[in-house]
Amino acid sequence: LQADDDHFGPEEKEFERALRPLSFSDFTGQQKVVDNIKVFVQAAKKRGEPLDHVLLHGPPGLGKTTLSHIIANELNTNIKVTSGPILDKPGDLAGLLTNLEDNDVLFIDEIHRLNPIVEEYLYSAMEDFKIDIMLDSGPSARTVQITLSPFTLIGATTRSGLLTSPLRARFGINSRLEYYDADLLSNIVERSCSILSTSIDRDAAIEIARRSRGTPRIANNLLRRTRDFAEIKGDGNINMEIAKMALSALDVDDHGLDDMDNRILSTIIEKFKGGPVGISTIATACGEEAETIEEVYEPFLIKEGYIKRTSRGREATELAYKHLKIVPPTRTGG
Ligand code: ADP
Repeated sequence: LQADDDHFGPEEKEFERALRPLSFSDFTGQQKVVDNIKVFVQAAKKRGEPLDHVLLHGPPGLGKTTLSHIIANELNTNIKVTSGPILDKPGDLAGLLTNLEDNDVLFIDEIHRLNPIVEEYLYSAMEDFKIDIMLDSGPSARTVQITLSPFTLIGATTRSGLLTSPLRARFGINSRLEYYDADLLSNIVERSCSILSTSIDRDAAIEIARRSRGTPRIANNLLRRTRDFAEIKGDGNINMEIAKMALSALDVDDHGLDDMDNRILSTIIEKFKGGPVGISTIATACGEEAETIEEVYEPFLIKEGYIKRTSRGREATELAYKHLKIVPPTRTGG
């Protein structure tokens, strides 16, 4: 149901499901967010009320869906999963909402992509647990108000900036997930290995973690491919040599940048003199969608200091030149 999941086949989804943490204690990192949510969950349970609506934002693969399922588990409620682009008509939303039981969780992924008409309906549902449904059309048209079971909406988005302010204002809890450091990711890699009954050396786990763009989903996917190399080219154990062989075969460079990251940097530098250049121009030159560059690649490249966002567009930093082993223009004259 997720846009970024669409890149993966069924086998990969199955793999993700197997590794997905099911409780707060299984969920590594995001300490502050998790600690806060734990308190809110406990308080809601104690009062027998639904948890306040939760907005989770941050780049793909950091655990928004996972955390939503954990919240429902910890609340001992059901979770219904949908996504902004799928909820096309108000009737679709009404169908979901009227099927919720007391204190259930409705998870809407990519909530920034809701149809505005559907979004309107969501307002009263979130605020008063009521929706107005139109019956019939023409002269006999009339609306009836339906009272819903109290529920918790959890919205996930990679682009919180695209949320309308009325929608954003209706979330009592608003949490941002951050990229994971290599230490946390190496723990996630080791946990995954133990679920998969695969043995891994500590330094190999750290190597995979260090090159996973701060993202658990990527760490698990790299692990999955590395395990194939270990089984075919080695004795099944993932050691440093196997990890390095797999990562280089997968075009993940020494700093964890993948093919597209490097293509974006070299495009800015080689085709546009280091920028500033607009995101859509970069996207066309790289053969990738602007939205994907903005959601997936750019946040990491900015965080790691390879590119800067200015009012006139994106600029490559000195680090980017160094990474591509190109001399920055300021130095060429002298
Ligand atoms: P998002 O919804 O933010 O795109 P997901 O919740 O789908 O990300 O997470 C992708 C995968 O990464 C999950 O299947 C899970 O196995 C793994 N994952 C995410 N966060 C964590 C975490 N904190 N600890 C362990 N594994 C995680």
